[in-house]
Amino acid sequence: MSDTSSSGSGSPAAAHFETLAIRAQAPVTPAREHSVPLYLTSSFRFDDAEHARALFAEEMSGNIYSRYANPNTDEFVNKVCLLEGGEDGVATASGMSAVFTAIAAHVASGDHVLSARAIFGSTHQLVTRVLPKWGVTSDYADIADPASWERLLRPTTKLIYVETPSNPGLELVDLAWLGSLARARGIPLVVDNCFATPYLQRPLTHGATAVIHSATKYMDGQGRALGGVIVGDRSFMADCRFFARHTGPAMSAFNAWMLSKSLETLAVRMDRHCSNALAVARHFEGHPAVQAVRYPYLPSHPQHELARRQMTQGGGIVVLELAGGLSRSGRFLDRLRLASHSANLGDTRTIVTHPASTTHSKLTGAERAAVAITDGLIRISVGLEHVGDIIDDLEQALAD
Ligand SMILES: *Cc1c(COP(=O)(O)O)cnc(C)c1O
Repeated sequence: MSDTSSSGSGSPAAAHFETLAIRAQAPVTPAREHSVPLYLTSSFRFDDAEHARALFAEEMSGNIYSRYANPNTDEFVNKVCLLEGGEDGVATASGMSAVFTAIAAHVASGDHVLSARAIFGSTHQLVTRVLPKWGVTSDYADIADPASWERLLRPTTKLIYVETPSNPGLELVDLAWLGSLARARGIPLVVDNCFATPYLQRPLTHGATAVIHSATKYMDGQGRALGGVIVGDRSFMADCRFFARHTGPAMSAFNAWMLSKSLETLAVRMDRHCSNALAVARHFEGHPAVQAVRYPYLPSHPQHELARRQMTQGGGIVVLELAGGLSRSGRFLDRLRLASHSANLGDTRTIVTHPASTTHSKLTGAERAAVAITDGLIRISVGLEHVGDIIDDLEQALAD
């Protein structure tokens, strides 16, 4: 990481979330730019033979080659470190390359990974179908059964992995509890904080070792670019950095440039995502076509107390369980006029997804049942349109 500098006075490290997200910028160049420029360059020149030697020997930090780092990826990583409270970080081309880097950099043949059962579809494929090819085994623990976590830990467990709130079931993991268990055993805890963002929840303050993000979602927030990032403890990140440097999942400079600017508006966007989502959740609770509404800040959520404790708001995702299963879900999706039927989330536009037939279709029926992904489950990524228009559209699509 290169140094950050604020263009105003005072240290950005002392400032609030919103200020850091805007003012923690890459250092200003002789052009005296106000907004950080895009560095489209594969490599950087060395001052002399000694400079090149010292950079490669890691005796000093500095730009070498954009697979390792670039001023734009540095700026993005620095910001996420400040927002999450991480010591160091690595930016990657997608959320999945961040998940893969965080896990693969810390396991070897014979090792074991303990994961929450409710995790993103591709993370599930990675854990159950890719890692075993290299002799890495795993177990899933259930959040409803805290004792199972201790029981499933092995001497070979090298990493504990969770997602909270989970995609798409909105299950929460008690981070303070799991953080202290992981610390007591000396096992790194990695948290996918994609749904909450650091604006709503900061897992490192609860004892997590590292946080990963699909920056594609709320960090970009406008459905334009893929990206991923891992931030956390310095020694955990050193392994991630070595792995990423030599296997090449680097984030492009262009995406990093865009994502750094997107972070400037993360707080205001999340406030509106959350207030719109809460209004949608409240509106559809008790609706005759809806069997159940899941939203962490509704008192009916089974972990509502925990949500209030570890998240400052409920997030932008609402899950509806439609009465009538597959045929009702299909009819609902085909009738939407404003909301998009798409697979992304965290966009300004409201996006509706049917996980059982799309993002989680590669799971077996039994695997889906274990994480409560039914045929009637609809994930709504509530956007930033006027909340009245969003509710009207969902209502008309639900009408008989
Ligand atoms: C989308 C997503 C990912 C994967 O991110 P990509 O950027 O699509 O690779 C990982 N975890 C969660 C919770 C996600 O929603």
